[in-house]
Amino acid sequence: MAEELLEKDSKGQGMTKGSRMILVGPPGVGKGTQAAFLEARLGLKHLSSGTIFRAEVEAETDLGRLAQSYINHGELVPNGVTIEMMAKRIRSDEVRKSGFVLDGFPRTIRQSVALDEMLDAMDMRLDKVVSISASDELVLSRLTGRMGCTKCGEIYHAKSKPPKREGLCDKCNGPLIIRTDDKPGTIIERLKVFREQTKPVIDYYREKGMLQVVDGSRTAEEVYTQIVCAEE
Ligand code: ADP
Repeated sequence: MAEELLEKDSKGQGMTKGSRMILVGPPGVGKGTQAAFLEARLGLKHLSSGTIFRAEVEAETDLGRLAQSYINHGELVPNGVTIEMMAKRIRSDEVRKSGFVLDGFPRTIRQSVALDEMLDAMDMRLDKVVSISASDELVLSRLTGRMGCTKCGEIYHAKSKPPKREGLCDKCNGPLIIRTDDKPGTIIERLKVFREQTKPVIDYYREKGMLQVVDGSRTAEEVYTQIVCAEE
């Protein structure tokens, strides 16, 4: 179904190869899952600020050391270093050619303005901004019990998608871990930060007439269909 509609889209509407888009929404709403679909199916480069930060923490770089305490407390990493880190990737030749889907960035008005400026300087435009919405209750239940594979990134859930063997990835046998910021207290803080700092980002794009809202409580395939079909 989504593939058929995608053909229609290539005649003018919605998502196509080479598009430049932003996914915005509360933690745990499924931005990462949708961005992975868009990368696999449309070839858009998936740029997740959270994943990039976690790789920096893992590699024990200066940026990783700086970011770690913010991440562990559910707070935002300062705008300056975040913008610089994302700008480097958005400006790369590979991303210019493939198009991109931003996941987790921009998360503050300052980051949105910085993104506008960097795209302007490259004479590039955003095609659309998708807000994936869901209630606090739903995201809390999705985040509590979430586990990810340290090797391939596949996501599991203790209740809704348990791995066949405890602690091991079904796909690649890699060890599964629970993110340090997926603890209940930190999840509450991340939701608060979302309300205070990221909701204004959604309003910013709504005012520019670029926003599409999709229902994040649906299945992953249904959410994907909503995104590529450009329907509210
Ligand atoms: P979430 O599931 O909360 O959307 P992410 O994986 O996107 O998680 O981000 C994890 C953490 O990384 C955030 O809580 C924050 O500390 C940091 N982070 C990610 N993106 C940004 C950003 N654009 N600006 C500041 N901090 C960020």
